[in-house]
Amino acid sequence: MADSPNRPIRTIAIDGPAGAGKSTIGLGLAKQLGFLYFDTGVMYRAVTLAALQRGIAPDDEDAVSQLAESVLIEVLPPSVDDGRQYTVRLDGQDVTWAIRRPDVDAAVSVVSAFPHVRRAMVAQQRRVARDGNVVMVGRDIGTVVMPDADLKIYLDASVEARAWRRYHELERRGAPSSYADVLTSMRQRDELDLSRTTSPLRPAQDAFIIDCTHMNADETLAHVIALVAEQNAARAGAPAQPAAVVGASGDDR
Ligand code: C5P
Repeated sequence: MADSPNRPIRTIAIDGPAGAGKSTIGLGLAKQLGFLYFDTGVMYRAVTLAALQRGIAPDDEDAVSQLAESVLIEVLPPSVDDGRQYTVRLDGQDVTWAIRRPDVDAAVSVVSAFPHVRRAMVAQQRRVARDGNVVMVGRDIGTVVMPDADLKIYLDASVEARAWRRYHELERRGAPSSYADVLTSMRQRDELDLSRTTSPLRPAQDAFIIDCTHMNADETLAHVIALVAEQNAARAGAPAQPAAVVGASGDDR
């Protein structure tokens, strides 16, 4: 992937904690560039849902690992016009909304910490990445799945800002939860994602870190689009257009 630094960016990794806005920004960026958008979190969510549906305890490492290797997870263009970004199928069953349930939220970080589960998912994600023209979103994309990605972004925000966003999202979807519960669940998920031994959540060394605590989605997307344009100009050897500075807290490096 790092073959010719002069050609335009073809692979973009976006990592960061839950609720930072990775999906909104990733999807918006992919649309803007005409790239494929791939949200890897849905794969870990689908395995978690499969375990819950079969009555397998999420912390049963052997059973969950076997399951991860046997289930068929498909991420397809939206099949229903109900606000979804894509359709997720688990062994043929439409689970697009079911994978967003609070019981999946609560168990997914336990499931995603198992090395065999990660190995099975990463293999599939690398197959998607191979063709390029992709914006891939997750926790370990810049560090593990696409370490040679042309552009790596780490999107961060305070845990309180992220919990508010998730709370409003659940409310909009008609599945409200209390803000306190959302905050607690997000803190637990952060803790597990950051502390796990296999592929813990952390920015790649060469990632651009963007703190969007004080930026809304439109501002963050504009910032990221400007960053891509700037990087493409630099790769082409042309003088870079100054990136539009939006929001107060961009912490790019
Ligand atoms: O991004 P989302 O919140 O949907 O991801 C759900 C969970 O899946 C995360 O909390 C994390 O435990 C796991 N995950 C991961 N690696 C990825 C994407 C998601 O471990 N690349």
